[in-house]
Amino acid sequence: MKSLLFAANWKMHLGPADARAYCTTFLAHSAPMPGREVWFFPPAASLEAVSGALKGRADLRVGAQDIHWEAKGAYTGAVSAGIVSQAGARATLVGHSERRKIFGETDADTARKVRAALAGGLTPMLCVGEELKEREAGNTLAVVTRQLAGALDGLSAGDIERVVLAYEPVWAIGTGRNATPQDAGAVHRQIRTWLAGHGAPHPRVLYGGSVNLGNIAALLAEAEIDGVLVGGASLEPDGWAQLVRTGAP
Ligand code: PEP
Repeated sequence: MKSLLFAANWKMHLGPADARAYCTTFLAHSAPMPGREVWFFPPAASLEAVSGALKGRADLRVGAQDIHWEAKGAYTGAVSAGIVSQAGARATLVGHSERRKIFGETDADTARKVRAALAGGLTPMLCVGEELKEREAGNTLAVVTRQLAGALDGLSAGDIERVVLAYEPVWAIGTGRNATPQDAGAVHRQIRTWLAGHGAPHPRVLYGGSVNLGNIAALLAEAEIDGVLVGGASLEPDGWAQLVRTGAP
């Protein structure tokens, strides 16, 4: 049985009070399951509420949606690895496509953020994925490889092993249109090949993009997929708990 990671990206939803209520409902609908971990990425303002509410369940983890690469300083609106750690985070997303697209985050920025996360004791979950026009031009693998190299080149094998990968084709995020398990599997294989070539032969590679109760079983059945990163379908606690249970014996 492969171990699975279910990651919930709440984006700009669920402030502290709503997040606490969410966790109460989630815990009522979910028991720990062998080989399954669930990570929550709430907005920064809700990190402490969520980490407090989920305390005591070793299978649950809380992470930030983004960090700045500096440890402290005059960066209005930003949070550092140290700040989110104090609020209970043990991981952080890096390079989510919304950060890249809306906030202009570059590959060089993702490199700094991965290093800041590692230095701060957080597990980076690096998001990579192509836009629709890049897929249609046959450039998926070139784009994903550029993003991997941009973020991870120059790190030691030991550090690269600490990074979790999320393949998220941009055209599948929030659109209701997911990659087929076979298409995702093909990209995951390339990601594994790249990582193995950089000294990390056993990476965790998640798929993200319009995952829901209707497609989760087929995606998890694909050997290359070690779990999922989910936006919209993670926002209702009972539905999310049901998704996490899917396919479990
Ligand atoms: C995401 O935000 O990472 C994501 C995959 O969103 P959705 O599940 O809504 O497509």
